[in-house]
Amino acid sequence: MVTVALVGSTGSIGTQAMEVVRAGGGAFDVVAIGARRSVDVLAAQAAELRPAVVAVADETAGRRLEGRLPAGIELRCGADALASIAVDADVVVNGVVGFAGLPVTLAALAAGRRLALANKESLIAGGPLVQAVRLTPGAEILPVDSEHCALHQCLRSGGRGEVRRLVLTASGGPFRGRRAAELTTVTVADALAHPTWAMGRKITIDSSTLMNKGLEVIEAHELFGAEFGIDYDAIDVVVHRQSVVHSMVEFADGAMVAQLSEPDMRLPIGYALAWPERFTTAFGALDWTEARRLDFEAPDSATFACLGLAYAAGRMGETAPATLNAANEVAVDAFLSGAIAWPAIAEVVDECLQAWEGTKAEDLDVVVAVDAIARDRARAAVERRAARS
Ligand code: MG
Repeated sequence: MVTVALVGSTGSIGTQAMEVVRAGGGAFDVVAIGARRSVDVLAAQAAELRPAVVAVADETAGRRLEGRLPAGIELRCGADALASIAVDADVVVNGVVGFAGLPVTLAALAAGRRLALANKESLIAGGPLVQAVRLTPGAEILPVDSEHCALHQCLRSGGRGEVRRLVLTASGGPFRGRRAAELTTVTVADALAHPTWAMGRKITIDSSTLMNKGLEVIEAHELFGAEFGIDYDAIDVVVHRQSVVHSMVEFADGAMVAQLSEPDMRLPIGYALAWPERFTTAFGALDWTEARRLDFEAPDSATFACLGLAYAAGRMGETAPATLNAANEVAVDAFLSGAIAWPAIAEVVDECLQAWEGTKAEDLDVVVAVDAIARDRARAAVERRAARS
């Protein structure tokens, strides 16, 4: 039996991972769960799964969970609690949202675990740090992101020197086909209305700006760049609104291999849990008895400026992607709370990236400091815009 730690167990990825574990029919044993502060959901999950450990990052929330867990379950609270359960299992699912997922990633890899990584910010903010601990014997990353899981599958078709191009597909989000001038007055509800994927709020807004795809370009570079000799010029984005082709790899002979399925995150989760075998329940299998079409078009990078900003940050390297990510998290929060308009998300990120000092990603403390500086700058940029309107 494979033991599993579910970090971020109460979120979108965590709850779907629980469904996958149930579908596994006893092949997987969840030995640890953890979340930031969703006490009620954690209590219910603990009652069902009976893990050995439950972790809560927020101390106050943790105290509310005391006395609500079945007997014999250890409760860990505090800032390091989530990272502490990332060493307790064969496979660690990191479904934490945002920058807070980085210590979980580092802990899992340093302990030589297989990391089922849904927290893309780990690779974006802490790329150089993750690359270093990834060399730990036994450590490996299985991406729980539909595009990168697709690339992982496509890359099985050829050898290292044979890959020419990675092509990430993007749904285009709710504003595909709209021009910049039409997007100045869109509401939070408009931006949250994703056409094909049901996801958390932050990533759904990132989809509407194409920042999600930009972050995924950096993620693809971090995951596969060194191993397959792929630089940013060899990573393309194509808009594909049906979200059926999850990504593609072009090989030296011109052959392009794609992975197709219905949009269903349980497939990438199952792939990561069962690797190197295939998961035994089919999630997202396509029904070809209905007529269907697949469309592809180039992204509109003038309207969706975040995509180009992400390529730029990726090429700058070191802590530039951390700066991009931090500024974006603040800007998205500000948009969700009504403080700034949708086009200002890209403006705030651009301003912070231009102010980046070129700091090298030496260790976690440096990355945390750069992240904090970028957040301060982004908050100041948000306030200037809020004062003007
Ligand atoms: Mg994705």
